[in-house]
Amino acid sequence: ITERIDAEAGQPCESVDGCRMELYINAGLSADVEANADFIGSGIGLYRTEIPFMLRERFPSEQEQVALYRQVLESAPNLPITMRTLDVGGDKPLPYFPINEENPFLGWRGIRLTLDHPEIFLVQVRAMLRASVGLTNLQIMLPMISTVSEVKEAKRLVNQAYFEICDEVCENGHGLQRPKLGIMLEVPSVLYQLSQLAQHVDFFSVGSNDLTQYLLAVDRNNTRVASLYNSYHPAVLAALNNIVKQANDNEIPVTICGEIAGEPAGAILLMGMGYRRLSMNAFNLRKINWLIRKVTLEESKHLLSQALNSVSHEEVFGHLNDYLETKG
Ligand code: PEP
Ligand code: MG
Repeated sequence: ITERIDAEAGQPCESVDGCRMELYINAGLSADVEANADFIGSGIGLYRTEIPFMLRERFPSEQEQVALYRQVLESAPNLPITMRTLDVGGDKPLPYFPINEENPFLGWRGIRLTLDHPEIFLVQVRAMLRASVGLTNLQIMLPMISTVSEVKEAKRLVNQAYFEICDEVCENGHGLQRPKLGIMLEVPSVLYQLSQLAQHVDFFSVGSNDLTQYLLAVDRNNTRVASLYNSYHPAVLAALNNIVKQANDNEIPVTICGEIAGEPAGAILLMGMGYRRLSMNAFNLRKINWLIRKVTLEESKHLLSQALNSVSHEEVFGHLNDYLETKG
């Protein structure tokens, strides 16, 4: 089967009945991008900037960040590269920035931390902007948004960084494009404010890993409750379904970049819901591309309605596994 999958790599990702999907990759090391340069899909849907930060012994300087981001942006100059601002805290500690909290997943993580330390945020955004001079593919994404005011404040800082860099580089005749700005949808509160949030940003990206954790109140890394952590819980599927409908109503592009997007059962259900952009670990890309080329949108909608009417993730998998077996 691997051979059959590889044989179709790079073929258009379109279902049998003509539903076109865009597949993006999730990355965090420049090596990810280099290793997969032959098939990066439609671009990078999520570049986790905290990974290079976690591998160091101190905060990388602005210059170091510029070099790092430049390499990533140049790896696919004609495709969008979505760089997420630092998402540390929770399960992602920085050795040189210790945080001690009783409930780290409900605490100081992602945008909360960087808005409290605007110097960290500004250095990072300036580095992204500097790295993007002469290119047009940078998009910036904010993690762990739970309120509209966080978006406004982060946007103010991004604009400030933009004008600072513009003053520096525009005189030299270099082009600095204003990057698109988006937010992660991964805290349940945002589901109820999507139309307000849509007014402030250019795109949404669903972080189904954290959304599952927060909807089900199950720590995504706690083995004791691991059997309860499941993105195919019908309530999580209902939330994902609701998000894409609302995003379409608000005419705002939406990607999904959690693990579910790179899983065969997940990709089919997401297609049935109306998602047209999936971002996944690069090693899943060929498999999902291959699978989508074997299914129809009609079948995916039927499977979705069965899934939404199921009472448990076991029942959801029951229907999907039967179907997937027919596809080899
Ligand atoms: C997510 O939460 O689904 C996500 C993509 O971000 P991360 O896994 O890095 O928290
Ligand atoms: Mg997340």
